Amino acid sequence: EEQVRELRHTLGVKVSGAQPPKPVTSFAHFGFDEQLLKAVRKAEYTQPTPIQAQAVPAALSGRDIIGIAKTGSGKTAAFIWPLLTHLMDQRELRAGDGPIGLILAPTRELSLQIYNEAKKFGKVYNINVVCCYGGGSKWEQSKALEQGCEIVVATPGRMIDMVKMKATNLRRVTFLVLDEADRMFHMGFEPQVRSICNHVRPDRQTLLFSATFKKRIERLARDILTDPVRIVQGDLN
Ligand code: ADP
Ligand code: MG
Repeated sequence: EEQVRELRHTLGVKVSGAQPPKPVTSFAHFGFDEQLLKAVRKAEYTQPTPIQAQAVPAALSGRDIIGIAKTGSGKTAAFIWPLLTHLMDQRELRAGDGPIGLILAPTRELSLQIYNEAKKFGKVYNINVVCCYGGGSKWEQSKALEQGCEIVVATPGRMIDMVKMKATNLRRVTFLVLDEADRMFHMGFEPQVRSICNHVRPDRQTLLFSATFKKRIERLARDILTDPVRIVQGDLN
């Protein structure tokens, strides 16, 4: 216990919630599948960032997460690696229907960044990833969705458009990520984000990431997360 406290102190992370898993500071000890480990090595990452060290074991154990950490702290991989592991745990579920992992992000740029990261690490598993954002061709995006996929990265408004057009559905989603939730709210996406959450099965795993933790995010967390592990890196602003 004392050691775990010290380790968290060294990492600069504060953790709350019922029985949070211990942080893991080496990739070899995450329990990743060999293929994923290989992809991580290929990316030339030497060790997990502090948010990854605490969020990855929590996510791998199936817990909901609130992760608060500033830009550049490595949050993308902190949810992509557990999502890929989640997909590998259900090998029989292949493309041909709607996504199993759904990631919502505020902008086209961020969606594309996450998409590229998912492709980079998901390549070893032949994971199909589709990216949908406002301003892109609805026709092209819906065609891509109709091929079937395991992961969708989307801006909230466009995701709803795609479901309304019946290009895809949310029936298979069991792993939901809200990335940069504070920015999605600033951009006025709160109703769309909440609507999507309400249409995903309630026994899903949900990860919420934000650079700040204000009242509205706290309220969202209370509404959509179940028994979360809360991880804060640095000071709350
Ligand atoms: P955030 O979402 O917190 O702003 P990103 O996920 O975009 O941060 O990561 C920031 C940068 O750090 C990216 O270029 C990413 O490839 C890199 N990165 C992520 N994890 C590691 C790691 N463990 N070691 C080294 N670099 C990493
Ligand atoms: Mg990010």
